[in-house]
Amino acid sequence: MNEGEKKVVRKMIGIYCRSKHDSSGVLCKTCAELEQYALSRLENCPFGENKPTCNSCSIHCYRSDMKQKIKEIMRFSGSKMLFIHPIDTIRHFHHERKRNNNYKAALKQQK
Ligand SMILES: [Zn+2]
Repeated sequence: MNEGEKKVVRKMIGIYCRSKHDSSGVLCKTCAELEQYALSRLENCPFGENKPTCNSCSIHCYRSDMKQKIKEIMRFSGSKMLFIHPIDTIRHFHHERKRNNNYKAALKQQK
């Protein structure tokens, strides 16, 4: 589930670990743990392929320490992604916007 998301998360953690922890190719222990955690959250997301971005989601499923870490990684790697993987990144954000709009529309209908 959410294969596209997983790819992006993996890339972001990879970029972060390489620049911050001097790892090459293989993630350090902390980042490897975080990656496992993030991937399992995506796998278990109740919204499945229609998941909104985690920022706009009404379920905050991350443990707070993991949330802090992933936030820092997103901030750090987000801008770099655009240079390293421009096509993937643009496609990713385009999909996210679309899903967020769907999600908001669905929320409105529930009221
Ligand atoms: Zn690391």
